[in-house]
Amino acid sequence: EGMTLLELSRRTGESVAVLQSILINVGETFSSEFDTISVDVAELLAMEIGINVRRQHSTEGSEILPRPPVVTVMGHVDHGKTSLLDALRNTSVAAREAGGITQHVGAFVVGMPDSGTSITFLDTPGHAAFSEMRARGAAVTDIVVLVVAADDGVMPQTLEAIAHARSANVPIVVAINKCDKPGANPEKVKYQLTSEGIELEDIGGNVQAVEVSAAKSTGLDKLEEALLLQAVDMDLKARVDGPAQAYVVEARLDKGRGPLATIIVKAGTLVRGQHVVIGSQWGRLRAIRDMIGKTTDRATPAMPVEIEGLKGLPMAGDDVIVVESEERARMLSEGRKRKFEKDRLLKAEEARIEEAAARMETESEEGFVRVELPIVVKSDVQGTAQAVADALRTLNSPQVFVNIVHSGVGAISHSDLDLAQACSACIVGFNVKSGSSANLSAAQASVKVFHHRVIYHLLEDIGNLIVEKAPGVS
Ligand code: GDP
Repeated sequence: EGMTLLELSRRTGESVAVLQSILINVGETFSSEFDTISVDVAELLAMEIGINVRRQHSTEGSEILPRPPVVTVMGHVDHGKTSLLDALRNTSVAAREAGGITQHVGAFVVGMPDSGTSITFLDTPGHAAFSEMRARGAAVTDIVVLVVAADDGVMPQTLEAIAHARSANVPIVVAINKCDKPGANPEKVKYQLTSEGIELEDIGGNVQAVEVSAAKSTGLDKLEEALLLQAVDMDLKARVDGPAQAYVVEARLDKGRGPLATIIVKAGTLVRGQHVVIGSQWGRLRAIRDMIGKTTDRATPAMPVEIEGLKGLPMAGDDVIVVESEERARMLSEGRKRKFEKDRLLKAEEARIEEAAARMETESEEGFVRVELPIVVKSDVQGTAQAVADALRTLNSPQVFVNIVHSGVGAISHSDLDLAQACSACIVGFNVKSGSSANLSAAQASVKVFHHRVIYHLLEDIGNLIVEKAPGVS
């Protein structure tokens, strides 16, 4: 593993010199472009130059084995998602052995002793968790259980769930719930789903529908069977050996144990004592616990575990990667934090610009487009510049937006002209003159410059300008 600096340069299109300067910044030493750099340093470098490479671990020579499916429960509110998860959790032998009092950690496993297989359920019902994870690039869910109440039928959030599953390309298994109720009409639910384009097995499609009652715990074995069948159909497999790749399902802060995260391993094996980077957090795996709180030394694919030893709280959907040392973990985490901060600032700036644009385009109540009047204010003293800016803002109305793009002290300079030209602004000089060269440039740059010593006259001038720009405004 790892590649030379030269190779990385070729792959990223960034010069070796730039890569080297980044390496120096993060305290890495190097002697030549033929130096081999480790995968996480390569990732850090790539990140720094704005390329987000996901590490593809070589699967060569390592065992690829079938893995349990990871399932999310979705459906309309009150159709029984939570009840169904509770009922399913109770079918878990492990949970029963633990006295049924498993702490909520965001996921649980139901083992099938007969076949030696199991199913992992994400324990956060609803669509928000699903889309949140997807938004962060975490494709954790293999199958969606669509819960539809037999006495209520397809409802708006049922359709929303279908849309989510479709857009994520995740197959659906339908659980028609509340079949114990007198008003239950499973056939009607099936008919409705068919109208929504869900190709149920009944009509020759491949979507299974199972009738259940979460309240009476009936049909659960059928549902679990259907999920396993679906999983076999999908031929879910994962590499078992080698460094783990995992996703955070949930994270919380424990008073005594610090930040804890429930994660699900996607591939490889997570081992106690390893150093990990999770999103922009890092830590050493002081302890790994399974869903019933028993400590374990390793976690394999589809196994939800709670990990302890992180320095901070990660977010749901963050990916977990294993790195070889504490130093690397810290370095990668710091690199990511810097990148996240940069992205955050960039986003804030974009939002600001968008908002300004939206403000300009917003139609006033009367149906007029609001006209923006950008102004650069220069004055002899700071207090006056402020007062002039405030006076100009009194001209604001539903039709006019006086935007003071800059206010400062001193003569009107070339940089003021540049700014004004860039923003299509006019310049107001209050008690200041512009130098002769600036005067000339202003004419060339066709920037309007107003000189005044009396606020009243200034407002009169700008008022005329507004009438000129926005006819119909008085
Ligand atoms: P969620 O909003 O989808 O999580 O729905 P809940 O699990 O909170 O259930 C909503 C209501 O339906 C609760 O009052 C449950 O007791 C009830 N309920 C859930 N499943 C069943 C069922 O199979 N049969 C009956 N009769 N009631 C159910």
